[in-house]
Amino acid sequence: MAGFVLALDQGTTSSRALLFDASGAIVAVEQFEFSQSFPKPGWVEHDPEEIWQSQLRAARGVLEKANVKAGDVAAIGITNQRETTVVWDRKTGQPIHPAIVWQSRQSSGICETLRAKGLEEEVRSRTGLLIDSYFSGTKIRFILDVVPGAQARAEAGELCFGTIDTWLIHRFTKGRVFATEPSNASRTLLFNIHDGTWDPFLLDALGIPRSMLPEVKDSSGVFGEADPEWLGGAIPIAGVAGDQQSALFGQGCVSPGLAKNTYGTGCFLLMNTGREAPRSEAGLITTVAWRLGGRLEYALEGSIFVAGSAVQWLRDGLGFVGSARETDALARSVPDTDGVVVVPAFVGLGAPYWDEAARGTIVGITRGTSRAHITRATLESIAYQTRDVMGAMAQDSGIEPAVLHVDGGACENDFLMQFQADILGITVERPAVLEVTAMGAATLAGLGVGFWRDRSELDARVEAPTSFEPTMPEDERESRYRTWLRAVERSRGWVEEGAV
Ligand code: ADP
Repeated sequence: MAGFVLALDQGTTSSRALLFDASGAIVAVEQFEFSQSFPKPGWVEHDPEEIWQSQLRAARGVLEKANVKAGDVAAIGITNQRETTVVWDRKTGQPIHPAIVWQSRQSSGICETLRAKGLEEEVRSRTGLLIDSYFSGTKIRFILDVVPGAQARAEAGELCFGTIDTWLIHRFTKGRVFATEPSNASRTLLFNIHDGTWDPFLLDALGIPRSMLPEVKDSSGVFGEADPEWLGGAIPIAGVAGDQQSALFGQGCVSPGLAKNTYGTGCFLLMNTGREAPRSEAGLITTVAWRLGGRLEYALEGSIFVAGSAVQWLRDGLGFVGSARETDALARSVPDTDGVVVVPAFVGLGAPYWDEAARGTIVGITRGTSRAHITRATLESIAYQTRDVMGAMAQDSGIEPAVLHVDGGACENDFLMQFQADILGITVERPAVLEVTAMGAATLAGLGVGFWRDRSELDARVEAPTSFEPTMPEDERESRYRTWLRAVERSRGWVEEGAV
């Protein structure tokens, strides 16, 4: 009887592998960084070969570390950086262009053209997304445009497109399986989230032949088997989800109204909306959470550009602290911010404002303002921005979550988490084990082969989370939030037209 599940977490800067035992505990972790290429300002590319090799090394490494053989692994789960685009030759399996990474802006001209054609509304109603170069569709178009002969080869059925999940499945199965699932497919700009199929209208608008696209399967269930050559034995790949959706699943946000926020460089907030795919009027996107047993479930998603990176700014830019961790005690060394509000709109504002011209602003400074006040106000700004997005989610879905589940590096800051609970007026819950992204993929995979029968089997075994309960009186909460909104107004539209 196999006793383990292997989760592969293919991220933007590193490929990780984590081995889970039957109780859901992490037995071993292996991780390899890989190179980032920046061919022009705003462009980011990866070598698909290096992604594959680093992921394979991590998978082999973690089995070796734990002294576990392939036969002891019930299933592989894959979670991955979303939207990143690979196009390869169907016959040889060789990429025809570097992978274009999600942050890369190289297809923004193609987005302009789509907008000029008035396609924004079609895209939104079919995909739940905005026309933006983040999503895969225009990246595929870019590759077909710049690689000589690629369009003709695509039309002859000779090329394949995949997000990173598809690319890894292709390599692990030695080209036998060409598949994805809806949490990844829903980030391509080509997937109709309502009927769950590749959308002929959008394929046509982008000139992408249907034959390039992988089969879309359930997020949990067998995709195929990793070839015995790679890990010393065949192992079924049985669970796949994009990183944010995997974290949502790993946090146990599996029914409507359950929400999670990942506090990393920026923040990614997702709220499960169940079988409803609410159209956002408040500056969010609608995405597929996963497809289980043929049933699509959805989530609203909002991203905040600057969160943990504002803490890095306190450390590296201002030299206020020696480490991110020290901000907790420094913030607590003063009773409040003494009227100071920091709006960290360093690169504009994301959801729900979408203001490229906004810039970072500190208001309310007096002669008495100290680094402690500014540090405290910076941490608070992360919580206020989260409330902005939570408010938009409530507006779009009519659901007001009772709990916010948190993960990511900056959620280790207790001051921030308590302030988050206070400013939202709801419980903030931090799991004992923060590897929720990998946990999500492992769970999907374990369920996909019947290694676990039900999610609740795992819930019963997880260590108790840390809860932060709101203690701030409501009038104070609302008055502080109004002050924040006034400060946001001061930060908006700062950069003059043409200079964004
Ligand atoms: P990413 O995956 O985006 O690289 P991580 O989840 O690893 O991010 O989190 C790292 C971010 O969290 C950094 O921006 C760092 O400044 C911030 N961070 C880490 N620890 C703390 C802390 N104790 N308090 C506040 N911020 C923190």
